[in-house]
Amino acid sequence: MATHDELGFSSRAIHVGSEPDPTTGAVVPPIYATSTYKQDGIGGLRGGYEYSRSGNPTRTALESCVAALEGGERGFAFASGLAAEDTILRALLRPGDHVVVPSDAYGGTYRLINRVVRPWGVEHSIAAIADVDAVRAAVRPHTRLIWLETPTNPLLGIADIEAIAGVAREAGALLVVDNTFATSYLQQPLALGADVVVHSTTKYAGGHSDVVGGAVVVAPGAVTAGGESVSEAIAFHQNAMGAVAGPFDAWLVLRGLKTLAVRMERHCDNAEAVVAFLAGHPGVTAVHYPGLPDHPNHEVAVRQMSRFGGMVSFRVRGGEDVAAKVVGETALWTLGESLGGVESLIEHPGRMTHASVAGTALEVPADLIRLSVGIEDVEDLIADLRQALDRLT
Ligand SMILES: *Cc1c(COP(=O)(O)O)cnc(C)c1O
Repeated sequence: MATHDELGFSSRAIHVGSEPDPTTGAVVPPIYATSTYKQDGIGGLRGGYEYSRSGNPTRTALESCVAALEGGERGFAFASGLAAEDTILRALLRPGDHVVVPSDAYGGTYRLINRVVRPWGVEHSIAAIADVDAVRAAVRPHTRLIWLETPTNPLLGIADIEAIAGVAREAGALLVVDNTFATSYLQQPLALGADVVVHSTTKYAGGHSDVVGGAVVVAPGAVTAGGESVSEAIAFHQNAMGAVAGPFDAWLVLRGLKTLAVRMERHCDNAEAVVAFLAGHPGVTAVHYPGLPDHPNHEVAVRQMSRFGGMVSFRVRGGEDVAAKVVGETALWTLGESLGGVESLIEHPGRMTHASVAGTALEVPADLIRLSVGIEDVEDLIADLRQALDRLT
């Protein structure tokens, strides 16, 4: 078989980590539901496995697959996206360090940085991540990490990964990119100069709203300011903190990744049609989607993404109360948090996913509605939105 680097995205997604089982020929990796492993004499480990917090073959299968999909030197699988983020922050920062965070971040990321990492002794500055100069201005002498999410949640802002990687390099800081919204299929941050990619695999990677998980992938050769291997630091903390993906969860995410490319194409097709409908509806005052030519960073999106994803947000005429009513009046669009599954979801960020950032610089407009456009028949999705918007806006 060709080496991993020569294979296309879907060939890697389907085969890396899923090589047929050497003893049985099973085409799909087994779920190794075991906590420990027989040793052939003390320290005689078969395949290096000793204890399942430190390593489990089903988790290894997923970790090698995510590394291959992002072009990284090593992948790691966690119990959730936030467990992955916490491990990155603990592994790469020390009390006294400083981190730059985006003004339009996943609420849980900001809560982790503000309420767990800050009391530990790490200060942060919030920067409008779509503006490279604002990011540069937020850097301080002890900045060790720039955190970046693109597209952002829920306003679909776009940050220029390559330019911000340059800012990080000048500052002697590492660049971490949350690639959850775009996925490794639409965007390859490591190739653009990022040092670490993080995913909530709960979303598009798993893709079926049936598992919570996280993943980290490290760029080849990435080292900390102190010269330590980033992969070694993450590996140490993954084992020391122990927030690992269980074997069944790892298996579900690995299965999800095999169809990521075909699902993303359909998510993008459907999102484009929904955006066109919303843009023409009189009750809609703004549509946020990186694929729109009037999106403020559309050109950056065109440069760094192959398509623009399945997440859309929009504002409605009539303010917060109307927005809150619309999300409760759809039938096919399910009112719920999360995103990235095959089924379409609708939510009100101000009162749901982003309620925890109310009153901060990360507060979102009260009349905003966020859509996770699924892979149903798009005519049905549009008809359902139309009946709610026609009646309520
Ligand atoms: C959901 C999400 C997270 C957190 O992941 P969990 O799996 O819920 O812990 C982080 N970043 C983004 C962009 C997300 O959407």
